[in-house]
Amino acid sequence: MASFEGKSVLVLGGSRGIGAAIVRRFVQDGAAVTFTYSGSPEAAQQLAEETGATAAMTDSADRDAVIARVRDSGPIDVLVVNAGIAIFGDALEQDPDQIDRLFRINVHAPYHASVEAARQMPAGGRIIVIGSVNGDRMPVPGMAAYALSKSALQGMARGLARDFGPRGITINVVQPGPVDTDANPESGPMRDLLHGFMAIKRHGRPEEVAGMVAWLAGPEAGFVTGAMHTIDGAFGA
Ligand code: NDP
Repeated sequence: MASFEGKSVLVLGGSRGIGAAIVRRFVQDGAAVTFTYSGSPEAAQQLAEETGATAAMTDSADRDAVIARVRDSGPIDVLVVNAGIAIFGDALEQDPDQIDRLFRINVHAPYHASVEAARQMPAGGRIIVIGSVNGDRMPVPGMAAYALSKSALQGMARGLARDFGPRGITINVVQPGPVDTDANPESGPMRDLLHGFMAIKRHGRPEEVAGMVAWLAGPEAGFVTGAMHTIDGAFGA
């Protein structure tokens, strides 16, 4: 297990689900962790008390708040952008304001947070963004905006890898398939449909995604950048 003793980690969107597992993993490995939350103050407070991580209210839909949070965090070693939302439904019926909010959280915040983090990040720094296998494969209707947002992260990582590589900073996208969280519970109505696309017919666990994030943040992954890392039970295969 990589040791993150002496490292500072900022997780955007860490109060629940995959983000909370990432917070727990870095704390367990010795890092000083700050995580943001927006709609779940109680979950955030509970996680902070349980782990010793610092919780900070920051709405990822608010670009300037995201930039300020990253800037005020100082020279962080690892930035993880996990906050993301999904909207399901008929594209012809969806509220354009809600779609634009999704783009602000899922696309704009990852971009601006990554750029802001790189300003102060030391050599060896790591930026990891949580995308989705839906950036590669969208096998159901009603989720085009979500798929668009996750595909956009791929171009972002490829481009920023070029910008930051000379300074020893890597940027990668982790692309989960179905993972058992509030957003996509294994006990939910989508279970059989989703498992039908998969070779390993179960939801992933948040801890499995956190393990991939920890590897990408660690010393063995210094040559890995501008790449997508899919962890999906072959959903996209
Ligand atoms: P959850 O809905 O369970 O948790 C989402 C987390 O993001 C919460 O901590 C939430 O905090 C935070 N968040 C959401 N919106 C905002 C916001 N506006 N500002 C700050 N924080 C925010 O989702 P998952 O854990 O399932 O998903 C996490 C990431 O993984 C997302 O990017 C998602 O797209 C991606 N993903 C998930 C998959 C799955 O099957 N679960 C599959 C593929 C990708 P709060 O409640 O405090 O606002």
